[in-house]
Amino acid sequence: MSCTLAVFPRESPDPRVPADRSPVYRPRKPEVSPLWQLVAHHAHAFLAAYDDRHATRFGPLRAVVPRALESFQRCGIPAHGFARVRCPDCRHEYLLAFSCKQRCLCPSCHAKRQAAFGEFVTEEILPPVPHRHVGISLPRRLRPFFRRRKRLTRLARLAYETIKDLLQAAAATRTAVPGAVACVQSAGNLLDWHPHVHLLVSWGLFHRDGSFIPVEDTPEPETVAQLFRHRVLRLLLEEGAIEERVVRNLLAWPHTGFGTHVSRAIPADATTPGVVARYMARPPITPERMLGETSGPRIIYRSDAVHPRHQANFRVFDPLDFLAEVSAHIPDAHEKTTLFYGWYSNRTRGYRKQRGLLGEAEAETSTGEERASLNIRRSWARLIQQVYEVDPLVCVRCGGTMKIIAVIERPAVIRQIRSAELATKPGPCGAPHRSGEPARAARSARRAGGCPAARVVVRTVL
Ligand SMILES: [Zn+2]
Ligand SMILES: [Zn+2]
Repeated sequence: MSCTLAVFPRESPDPRVPADRSPVYRPRKPEVSPLWQLVAHHAHAFLAAYDDRHATRFGPLRAVVPRALESFQRCGIPAHGFARVRCPDCRHEYLLAFSCKQRCLCPSCHAKRQAAFGEFVTEEILPPVPHRHVGISLPRRLRPFFRRRKRLTRLARLAYETIKDLLQAAAATRTAVPGAVACVQSAGNLLDWHPHVHLLVSWGLFHRDGSFIPVEDTPEPETVAQLFRHRVLRLLLEEGAIEERVVRNLLAWPHTGFGTHVSRAIPADATTPGVVARYMARPPITPERMLGETSGPRIIYRSDAVHPRHQANFRVFDPLDFLAEVSAHIPDAHEKTTLFYGWYSNRTRGYRKQRGLLGEAEAETSTGEERASLNIRRSWARLIQQVYEVDPLVCVRCGGTMKIIAVIERPAVIRQIRSAELATKPGPCGAPHRSGEPARAARSARRAGGCPAARVVVRTVL
């Protein structure tokens, strides 16, 4: 029997166009992104039609979804507020638009979270011992049960306990534990509902005194899958999601249907574990994979690999269906998608901190995901530098270090400063406007915000 695959051609870089290696920061323009435009054109219709059109498949509309769509629309748009950044040496200024800081939906904010997570994990969590990357996914038959998001988070603990049991069996001890960083993901390459867990796990066990027992064995993927399957089925049975006969049926399958991957040992150098951690925390959607007119009737979303079920490396969506599919992957407000277990858990790290048993890097920090989010707030410039490879606080005029001198949130002041900025743009003759409404707005803004508008340039970097 022949099988036809539908393959969308990959975009290859034009060899005539030299790669842009300029170190100068290119301001991002969120409103030109296809995802932003899609949300702008269709979010209202999507929310209005949700109950009739999507609730049966995706469940009731969650409160986080309309909030996320609205925040994403405001992210990086100066009209919704900004900080003033000034160079103390040459007094050059620009306006830094506020960001939405969302997970998943906003590619820019998610990229900065990813960078913060990678840095946090390598600098403050992982000791210099061997680690491996473990990925575990569910068979299609069980995936819909994990649309209940609390259950989705529990998958991470089941994956950790599975690997812990295997490592303890290999080291013949039950009194030592591994350390693991887990990321829960719900999206496949083509936005399908595909719950899976990534673990970055110490390949060995820590005793209470901090001594480490390395493990050399690599478990067979089928062994990992069978142990994980038992845990998942027990969870679903205990919660009344499935019946005994379904469990018996699933246990009778010759193959578990669970996907497992255990990597080779990850070098304990300064960068590799961070790269793995960032990969584990990647966003569900990549706007560069969206093709087609965002205001048109169809959106094509492509992947690098052929999807086994769709038999293609792309899917074609109606815009409202596309938004429904993407929205399903937005976590709830307080939902944890990155978790720490065993030797790396908040409780264990807190215990060691109290007794002065933390390693050198660990001792400087508090614990947990809260610390990661604190990092995000404190070091936005460094994160932007990691994501975009340029430093937004380096003055483009004199190379000096710029500073945030004010945060502008009041709508009236925002309007005045932005009008002033427009007023100082050259007219058709090349000279600044001198009269009329824009000039008055400039004077008014100088009085209201103290903004030397003649030197202000709007750049959106967050
Ligand atoms: Zn954002
Ligand atoms: Zn300067």
